Parts: sequence; structure tokens; C-alpha cells
Amino acid sequence: MFRKTPTHMQQYTEPAIVDCPCCGEAVEVLVDLSVPLQEYTEDCPVCCRPMILKVTSGESGLAGIEVRGEND
Ligand SMILES: [Zn+2]
Repeated sequence: MFRKTPTHMQQYTEPAIVDCPCCGEAVEVLVDLSVPLQEYTEDCPVCCRPMILKVTSGESGLAGIEVRGEND
């Protein structure tokens, strides 16, 4: 019988490098791959301005990230 236990849960986060749309710096973000498509805001650690991340993931992991500034 198949049972889900917390000890067998996978980590569905993966670090990725994106270019901040505000300051152009390459920054590392941790993306959540448990959702196939999601959009969220994260503050740039360099210039502290919000960047909007659109993350797509597939069966093999991270499929793509689009980044844009809050005012674009
Ligand atoms: Zn920045």
C-alpha cells in the first residue's frame, strides 16, 4: 500500500540566477518548482527594488524564468 510520509517528501526548490531588471545585476533566487506556473514578487538583494518573477517548471525541473520590473 502506498503511503506518503514526510520523510520521503522531495524538496521542490531550486536556485536560479536572474538579471535584475532595475540594476542589471545577476542575483540568485530560490524558485519553488511545486507549481507548474507561478508569478511572484521578490526584492532584489542589490538594489532592493521589487522584481516580478514568472517561473515555469516541468517534469525535469525548472523550465524558464521571466523577470520584469514592477513598472514595466
Ligand atoms: Zn536590482
